[in-house]
Amino acid sequence: MTDLSTDFTRTRAAFHLPSGVTYLDGNSLGPMPVAARDRVAAMMQDEWAQMLIRGWNEAGWYAQPRVTGDRIARLIGAGDGQVVMGDTLSIKVFQAVSAARALRPGRRVILSDSGNFPSDLYVVQGLARAIDSDLRVVEPEAVAEAIDDDLAVLMLTEVDYRTGRRHDMAALTAAAHDAGALTVWDLAHSAGAVDVDLLGADADFAVGCTYKYLNGGPGAPAFIWTHPRHADAAQPILQGWMGHAAPFAFQPDYEPAGGVERMRVGTPPVIALAALDAALDVWDHVAMPDLRARSIELTEAFIAQVEASCPDLTLNSPRDPARRGSQVSFRHPQAYAVMQALIAQGVIGDFRAPDVLRFGFAPLYNTAEDVSRAVGIMARILREGSWDRQEYHARAAVT
Ligand SMILES: *Cc1c(COP(=O)(O)O)cnc(C)c1O
Repeated sequence: MTDLSTDFTRTRAAFHLPSGVTYLDGNSLGPMPVAARDRVAAMMQDEWAQMLIRGWNEAGWYAQPRVTGDRIARLIGAGDGQVVMGDTLSIKVFQAVSAARALRPGRRVILSDSGNFPSDLYVVQGLARAIDSDLRVVEPEAVAEAIDDDLAVLMLTEVDYRTGRRHDMAALTAAAHDAGALTVWDLAHSAGAVDVDLLGADADFAVGCTYKYLNGGPGAPAFIWTHPRHADAAQPILQGWMGHAAPFAFQPDYEPAGGVERMRVGTPPVIALAALDAALDVWDHVAMPDLRARSIELTEAFIAQVEASCPDLTLNSPRDPARRGSQVSFRHPQAYAVMQALIAQGVIGDFRAPDVLRFGFAPLYNTAEDVSRAVGIMARILREGSWDRQEYHARAAVT
């Protein structure tokens, strides 16, 4: 790994980036890898069309969730055979938290923070009702002191989706372990954005999606990681046939597969996995320390330039890059309209309620020119007040 020297000109060329667009929303949906189109077309023609049902064996569809999982593992500090793909992230949060909770019988508290993504909190609110547990939610800064001996599971998203604040995974995991609890880390805004080291941090479970910084495409399947010490003990609550020890024995009773494969639920999305596989090719020559260094360069430059030329905006992200992921957000009372005006000028970031302008910096394809172009246009929009038009205030269904 250390002899890898990342060629970011080459990684940028691997993506279809529409001309006239400065894309700073790869933290929500990564752009299309050029190779994905042909990979999906080939999968459809050579595998689905020609092989029909035989594709499950002959084209390796059945093993694909594990094979692709190994490719993700390298990017998050996990080992071979520890990651499996499938379902959506919300489902994987349910799988991980329920399995972790079951490993701590007699303890009923699941702790999270108020910066967590709502779906993670909603899923665990429902789960807690079903398994006689309590979800406790505290401010992100108060997590460490809220860890006590009642705690079963600490469930956190490492990088805050709104502010980009990054938790100290190793320190919080150690604190949870000292209290006798387990950890579930959501890597939605970490995988492909920062240098994650799950084994180094000694985490217990992790989950994440692949359509953000990993560029797998809309609806690309999620991943789940189980530390090897739990892999044969963890009992998923969603017991599907693909996680059975012998799916094609069609036995009436569930018996979990060995290792992380028990976290599989149903039939994997094979077409989506083909697109994701093409997206993961781009990572083959990327060294994570290079990625992190470039991410910090981009976010530092963005903050400095915005603060120098957009006095109406207030930084909503940690100033210390060590405490930040690969996204930066600023607040403005009319953030929604400002973002619509920016998008109309070809600078795509996004808005998060109530007043946040959010910008993701994906080192694989974002450049210093993207930073200066985005800031130049934003400064002009704010100076001229051109965001204050009727059309920029109308809200769409997806923001
Ligand atoms: C993006 C994101 C999700 C989305 O979950 P899906 O089930 O893929 O829609 C969940 N949690 C976090 C922390 C996210 O950032």
